[in-house]
Amino acid sequence: MLADQQILRIPGPTPIPPSVQRAMAQPMIGHRGQSTSDLLARIRPKLKRVFGTEQEVIILTGSGTAGLETAVVNAVAPGEEVLVIVTGAFGDRFVKICKAYQIPTHVLQVEWGKALDPELVKVFLQEHPGITAVFSTYCETSTGVLNPIQQLAAAIKEVSEALVIVDGVSCVGGVETKMDGWGIDILVTGSQKAFMLPAGLSFVAASERAWRKIEANPQPRFYLDLKSHRNNLEKNTTPFTPALSILFGLEQALELMEEEGLEEVYSRHTLMMKMTRAAFAAHGIPLLTAEADASPTVTAVKPADFDAEAFRKVMKAEFGISMAGGQQQLTGQIFRIGHMGYCSAADVLQIVSAIEIGLMKIGKMIELGKGTGAAQQVYLDERVGQQ
Ligand SMILES: *Cc1c(COP(=O)(O)O)cnc(C)c1O
Repeated sequence: MLADQQILRIPGPTPIPPSVQRAMAQPMIGHRGQSTSDLLARIRPKLKRVFGTEQEVIILTGSGTAGLETAVVNAVAPGEEVLVIVTGAFGDRFVKICKAYQIPTHVLQVEWGKALDPELVKVFLQEHPGITAVFSTYCETSTGVLNPIQQLAAAIKEVSEALVIVDGVSCVGGVETKMDGWGIDILVTGSQKAFMLPAGLSFVAASERAWRKIEANPQPRFYLDLKSHRNNLEKNTTPFTPALSILFGLEQALELMEEEGLEEVYSRHTLMMKMTRAAFAAHGIPLLTAEADASPTVTAVKPADFDAEAFRKVMKAEFGISMAGGQQQLTGQIFRIGHMGYCSAADVLQIVSAIEIGLMKIGKMIELGKGTGAAQQVYLDERVGQQ
């Protein structure tokens, strides 16, 4: 194994494209100078396209969780009731943030590995008319589920005035997102997942009606106050020193997405999901999520007859391949493969064929090449026939 080869297949941080890496190596500039303003002016419209919004996308310095906390402190007034839909560890994070601010928090628990059901949310809201905000997770990274956010937003709006607040950290930039069209009120994402950057930036956008709420909200906040960020960003500046190196990278990452075309970015992610799933299906190895609930950005595998942790160790030792384990109640029961951001069908073929060796090494007898062949067939069916 190459001493310095790292094959990063966890669901964030994700690999960084060489051109983004080079952009981030630029010498530092002054954050109050014209170059920074020009940079922000170029980034703003591109970020809006990825979010599917006409609203300003605020750029915060902080990891994704800073964006989640920003949503909570800006959108919820003291004493207001909220609902958090928990489909895994990241839904649970919203619960923890709300509780830290002593917000009366209802929790709708969904079995981990399954997607939320918008109809159940509707019923819950009808039974609890005091709820002013509903928090949910677009891709639940801990289980590999992609929740039906468009349907959820529509269902909430049928019965309630509650704000629809979505954590899109592990999929915005990798799956189609139409914030305005779907009626999402606050959408949050981060830099180190599908955006192909290091951790350190968080992006937050709010709808018109969310902005009205934010402007009237007496909840104290300072660094995370969206109003001051928006006032500054409209003048192509930031209230505090931004993470300039990551902004250099962000411009290039957005450039790469546009060069490829957002539609193609999304279909590449779907293809990678299908190839990954087909490889495990060919070996009869169970996946945690059903096809209909699966996220294009991360796949969770739930082995029935081998140890997930031992398998991850073998993959790391043998090939330098990092995969993620389970979180919280799924610890030791699953492993997760990230296929988002700077990741292609060729990378998936590398992973699934290395995985076959890893399986043999931990004593699971399989037919070598069967999973790789299944992934190859998906590629041929989806891509080669089209050309
Ligand atoms: C990674 C992630 C976050 C943010 O985590 P940080 O470590 O704070 O960047 C939030 N939500 C989801 C769904 C994630 O995958």
